Amino acid sequence: MPVRVRADLAAMPDYVPGRKIAGAINLASNEVSYPPPAAIVNAVAEAAASVHRYPAMGSDDLVRRVAAITGVDPSQVAIGCGSVALCQQLVQALCTAQDEVLFAWRSFEAYPIVTQVVGAVRHTVPLAAGHRHDLAASLEAINERTKLIFVSNPLNPTGTALRTAELVDFLDRVPEDVLVVLDEAYREFVTDPDVPDGLELARGRQNVAVLRTFSKAYGLAGSRVGYCVASPEVAGGVRKVAIPFSVNRFAHAAALASLDVEDELMARCRLISAERDRVREELIKIGFEVPESQANFVWLPLGERAAAFNEHCVEQKVVLRCFAGDGVRVTIGTPEENEAMLAAARTFPG
Ligand SMILES: *Cc1c(COP(=O)(O)O)cnc(C)c1O
Repeated sequence: MPVRVRADLAAMPDYVPGRKIAGAINLASNEVSYPPPAAIVNAVAEAAASVHRYPAMGSDDLVRRVAAITGVDPSQVAIGCGSVALCQQLVQALCTAQDEVLFAWRSFEAYPIVTQVVGAVRHTVPLAAGHRHDLAASLEAINERTKLIFVSNPLNPTGTALRTAELVDFLDRVPEDVLVVLDEAYREFVTDPDVPDGLELARGRQNVAVLRTFSKAYGLAGSRVGYCVASPEVAGGVRKVAIPFSVNRFAHAAALASLDVEDELMARCRLISAERDRVREELIKIGFEVPESQANFVWLPLGERAAAFNEHCVEQKVVLRCFAGDGVRVTIGTPEENEAMLAAARTFPG
């Protein structure tokens, strides 16, 4: 008999990365279109001189820096190889085969994958009206096997965000032995002050974990580094299941350097958020439905027309992220890139 991989992997969706088409404008992966400041490039180059040595096992410098910035004890911080790795580590640290992981669907496509990799059970809740996370339905879906709830805020791929009162009310009702993971990959693009800062909500709540990443606002998608802030118990579990040295030397250098130039990077985020609001208005003028976004992308709920719109844009050399039959996610790029996307949208016959 030949070697067989786990039978359940056949039913597991592959993570579909954004398409890369040579010479095309890439608005598929929620990356920042602007290249890194020279200080970051230099720090990575400097790290190369020590590449014959293993990186810091516990990412100590970065842990201390993140702890200081977020106002928590270093025991509450875990660094990961991108926050997607931290998603998987959280499930690994909390769940075994009978346990359920609850999340909205559609949402971040890594959630079903990491759940199944661990062998836990996926439990999904459809989105509410307005392409929003349905907190009431999530509360109802909690049962005695629920161990972890992913809440992407803002929600990938729709861009919609939960507000303070509803999220606080939700957290107050979730049983204290169920961990709520506030995945704030797009936090820095939020402009509505009524969208809560997860770190504040996590203070005093041992069953809330917050995920942040250097991939989006900090422009380090290629370096793979993010962090989790949680109770010492949960953060310790996340560190325990980490693959040793998976956060490499270059990622550490890039992340630390990016924190040194944070003001410059945050100014860039503000421009992107302003572009997001402008692009949304333009798309609405063209006739598209566009939910209000607090992230660096907008969502076009085109349903059955999604694939046709996506193909039309690819023909115009603009690459977006299509979820066929559902919608198309459009990353906000530079003003020139956004104009190219809008020009394509204006000529969409559908
Ligand atoms: C992009 C994204 C992440 C972060 O990915 P990294 O692994 O840190 O690059 C996490 N959660 C959501 C919802 C995202 O969209």
